[in-house]
Amino acid sequence: MALMFMDALKSLVANPINMGCGWRTRTSRSIGVHEEMLSSRDVSCPYCNTEFELLVDASQGNHATWEDCPRCCSPIQVHVSVSPQGELDSVVLGRDDDVF
Ligand SMILES: [Zn+2]
Repeated sequence: MALMFMDALKSLVANPINMGCGWRTRTSRSIGVHEEMLSSRDVSCPYCNTEFELLVDASQGNHATWEDCPRCCSPIQVHVSVSPQGELDSVVLGRDDDVF
C-alpha cells in the first residue's frame, strides 16, 4: 500500500497543477502591418476616360478588385496580373458589366 502511495505522489509531482495561462507572455505581433508591395499605375477610367493613379498591391498576386473612379465615382473592375517573380505584370480595367 505504501508503494501505491508513493506512485500517486510521484505522478502528482510530475504533473503539477496547471496554474492557468495568465502567466503566458504575449508576444507583440504587428497585426495588419505587413510589407505591402504597392505599385502605382497610370490608368484611365473606362466610363469617363479620366486618367488617375491607381495603387496596386502586387503582393496579393493575381487578383481582381473594385475601384471607384475619382471623378465619376463609377465602379471600375480592376484585374491585376502578377508575374511568378512577384512583379506587377498588367492592370486591366473594365466596366462593371464587362466580363474578362
Ligand atoms: Zn470615371
